[in-house]
Amino acid sequence: MIKNNLKEYRCPCGKLLFKGSLFKGTVEIKCKHCREIASFLGNLNKKFKESVEVVA
Ligand SMILES: [Zn+2]
Repeated sequence: MIKNNLKEYRCPCGKLLFKGSLFKGTVEIKCKHCREIASFLGNLNKKFKESVEVVA
């Protein structure tokens, strides 16, 4: 069994967007499921904010 520290980042809709670890900065990923852009801040553990920006 491989042990890793990857954290799962999920869209508010529940879809898994990516796995990894963030330290600084922000990652924005457009969800293919609900088409919203989720923004993840790399500061603290579970601190992330959801962006409700709509992209056509
Ligand atoms: Zn979504």
